Amino acid sequence: MAVKIKNVMEDIVIGRMGSIIEKFGCCQCDQCQSDVAAFVLSKIKPKYVSTVSGELYSKSVQLDPAVENEIVLLTAEAVQLVMEKPRH
Ligand SMILES: [Zn+2]
Repeated sequence: MAVKIKNVMEDIVIGRMGSIIEKFGCCQCDQCQSDVAAFVLSKIKPKYVSTVSGELYSKSVQLDPAVENEIVLLTAEAVQLVMEKPRH
């Protein structure tokens, strides 16, 4: 029996960061997008679920507006850092 868990914040952050990356005119290559996601996900509180229900959960999750706001702010910060020092 394997332990199957997933941090649903991954899908949430990745789903929301696209428009912010675009707004700032940041590079949209895989490396830059991954760097932005990693930065944000390292700073916000993870939300783990077992993957059996995790796939569905991440599509229906209702985020606290404060968490939503935190994601936007951290993404903006990450985008600026990536634009200053792109690793691609
Ligand atoms: Zn890039």
